[in-house]
Amino acid sequence: MAVITDEELRQRTRDLLAEVPPDRVDRVTFRGAQYDRGLAWVHFPEGKGGLGLDPKAQTVVDEVLRTAPVYYDDLAVNPIGIGMGAPTVLTYGTEEMHERFLRRIFTGEDIWCQLFSEPGAGSDVAGLATRAELDGDEWVVNGQKVWTTLAHVSNFGMLLARTDPDQPKHKGLTYFVLDMHAPGVEVRPLYQITGEAEFNEVFLTDVRVPDSMRLGERGEGWRVAITTLMNERVALGGGVRGRGQGPIAELVSVWDKHRDGLDPASRAVYRDRVTDLWIRAEVLRLTNLRARQNATAGNPGPEGSVGKLATAELNKAIYECALDLLGAEGMLFPGGYQLARPERTTLAGGSVQKTFLRMRAQSIEGGTSEVMRNILGERVLGLPGEPRVDKDVPWTEVPRSS
Ligand SMILES: Cc1cc2nc3c(=O)[nH]c(=O)nc-3n(C[C@H](O)[C@H](O)[C@H](O)COP(=O)(O)OP(=O)(O)OC[C@H]3O[C@@H](n4cnc5c(N)ncnc54)[C@H](O)[C@@H]3O)c2cc1C
Repeated sequence: MAVITDEELRQRTRDLLAEVPPDRVDRVTFRGAQYDRGLAWVHFPEGKGGLGLDPKAQTVVDEVLRTAPVYYDDLAVNPIGIGMGAPTVLTYGTEEMHERFLRRIFTGEDIWCQLFSEPGAGSDVAGLATRAELDGDEWVVNGQKVWTTLAHVSNFGMLLARTDPDQPKHKGLTYFVLDMHAPGVEVRPLYQITGEAEFNEVFLTDVRVPDSMRLGERGEGWRVAITTLMNERVALGGGVRGRGQGPIAELVSVWDKHRDGLDPASRAVYRDRVTDLWIRAEVLRLTNLRARQNATAGNPGPEGSVGKLATAELNKAIYECALDLLGAEGMLFPGGYQLARPERTTLAGGSVQKTFLRMRAQSIEGGTSEVMRNILGERVLGLPGEPRVDKDVPWTEVPRSS
């Protein structure tokens, strides 16, 4: 592993800001320069947006970047591409794929989406039914995906498909990079409770995927998918903000505005609730900070489920408390309830009422809280596993509804 001191890294980042000022060039130019200098994801190899450093060194770069007049949050630029696509391509892709995809993922020129879930396969995604059949050096894909975030603005998708239905469910899968503009790919909006359609149904009809767009070996798709999923959990739950920032700051602001209108008994109860949530937010922040400091090179393991579970449950509780504090006003949707088709995911922002609704999805997306608890119990704490009756049965013989 390369060694560069924190001070040297800070200086390189300051040089980037001075030589390619983000307030004077566009996003693609700035982030392209960041990538070329190895400051995109410092733990990636040199020439691929990194410097071969320890992953925790990224916090040094990010701290300096945050002081710039324009700051690009990876999760706003290309959440799925950066959080999950890039580490999966780096781990399983060919040199040609690294060259073709990594820089454009980081700059946001290519938005990526994740085509895993199906109407009959969510938590049990290994049971999915989308088929890919080999025809010469191309695969012909047929099936339906669902809840595909940002598919409507994506150039590429991470596609998990069944290539050998006679194998048990985890063994007959193969992983592909899908060109979202290929003939036979149809994307239809799905509106969420907020009125926004961040996600979609994706219908795949005789879509031809070159074998050169396969990630990993044939039948090894589950292993590749695990890399994507582990990175997803860290992307969704591993963020470290400053103390008191993020959702908890919004709750404190609502408390400040509404506490004087409460009777003394209610005020004492809410004060207790807000304080408790503030402490939970701080404990989670410190836990994520410690996890980041202990992070080693390579892909994250099942412990990423801790942050994902805790973040989802905490954010829901924070916005429940904020909504309660709003009282009757909490039932109204400021600005009116409108159907929209955003080009970015918008977890927070806008009104408290809207964020309350959006946060409900946090304990579902990227794996539900129940599933996170199962992973924690089995893979982190070493508790006995759930009974899995279909583990060694050929997929074709497993009963299913669709
Ligand atoms: C906002 C949002 C964005 C999403 N984006 C994407 C995306 O981009 N790409 C993608 O592929 N998918 C995406 N998803 C789908 C998401 O991954 C699935 O919804 C999730 O994995 C749950 O699957 P399911 O909806 O089929 O529910 P099910 O798996 O049917 O679960 C239903 C209920 O049963 C519980 N349950 C299931 N199995 C167990 C078990 N073994 N033990 C205990 N309880 C269990 C679940 O916790 C849940 O409460 C998104 C979802 C949301 C809400």
